[in-house]
Amino acid sequence: MKGYIYEINVNECTYIGSTRNIKKRKSAHNCLLKKNYCNKLYNYCYLNGIESLNLKILEYDEFDNLELRKREQFYINQIDSNKLLNKNKAYITDADRKLYKETIICPCCGSGIRRDVFARHRSSNKHKKNNIVIYNA
Ligand SMILES: [Zn+2]
Repeated sequence: MKGYIYEINVNECTYIGSTRNIKKRKSAHNCLLKKNYCNKLYNYCYLNGIESLNLKILEYDEFDNLELRKREQFYINQIDSNKLLNKNKAYITDADRKLYKETIICPCCGSGIRRDVFARHRSSNKHKKNNIVIYNA
């Protein structure tokens, strides 16, 4: 099945996407933009006064659903994370998935926490309660 990988450039920042129907996707992006939907891409546009989005086609080829997401992720990986407007990954490898599910020990409170929820753990009460700060006398 044919699919597109596209990018949206907003100032120095970039959003990467994939779709089967580029026309529909473009109008969907522009519709969501007007609703000022709470999302990294649209929020950035709102803050920068951007009122319409153009999709630049990077690839148009035969892809199955998995290949399409892999290809999208390939382009996402090329972009400096500070300039990336995607919030989520399009595709993660089994190795990545394993890594995220791995339990690590929190260096502050000593709890065993899965890597993918570690950021959330740091703002949890459990962490804050056990987070003993050692002051040098
Ligand atoms: Zn902790």
